[in-house]
Amino acid sequence: METKKKILIVEDEKTIAEILLYNIKAAGFDAEARHDGKSGLDEALTGKYDLVLLDLMLPVMDGFEVCEKLREKLDTPIIMLTARDTEQDKIKGLDTGADDYMTKPFSINELMSRVRANIRRYSNETVMRKITDTTIVVGDVVIDCENYLVKKGDKTLELSKKEYDLLAHLSKNLGKIYSREELMSDVWGYENFYGDLRTIDVTIARLRQKIDGDGAGESLIKTKRGMGYFIAPPEK
Ligand code: CA
Repeated sequence: METKKKILIVEDEKTIAEILLYNIKAAGFDAEARHDGKSGLDEALTGKYDLVLLDLMLPVMDGFEVCEKLREKLDTPIIMLTARDTEQDKIKGLDTGADDYMTKPFSINELMSRVRANIRRYSNETVMRKITDTTIVVGDVVIDCENYLVKKGDKTLELSKKEYDLLAHLSKNLGKIYSREELMSDVWGYENFYGDLRTIDVTIARLRQKIDGDGAGESLIKTKRGMGYFIAPPEK
């Protein structure tokens, strides 16, 4: 069974907080409420929540400040709730890092649909982040995809953006042979390419030189004659 998504409500008007708690739980979520900005922020910073509903006018610390401070640490989706309906508030709310904005009074159905949409979008982003976060290790070459760093042993390689992209692409798909046309489209992003495919060969040559040095050993990036380039899976 899928675990319930958790929502934090930060709202000082207890009646509204209770209506929200009731409806959110009825919609199948877990929910907690806090009634001032400071305790709302502390609770949100525990990182337990999938979304925060944040009232703007709050005692101790207002919604803008909560939003700003939360954003310094976490990217939990935030929907701001406010009784004020001014363009400036909305802009300021989004500027401080809120993902969405609702003006009171709002329909609970609309709120719930925005809650779902924001949680869904966030989960998709998280999945993507996990994929790009991975560190790829091929032989003695380590590719840190989060920081765009490539190391061979303890030496950091100075790669251009395209050299990095090319290496990362081949490494993420170990063993798959890519034609120059495919690399042009996948790495350079040219769908209809009329230019010079030798760009690929030149980039590969530079990359090999940086990775392999002048070493006489076998190159990490292999050529399959007449077909293209690939990086083989490491020996077991
Ligand atoms: Ca309030």
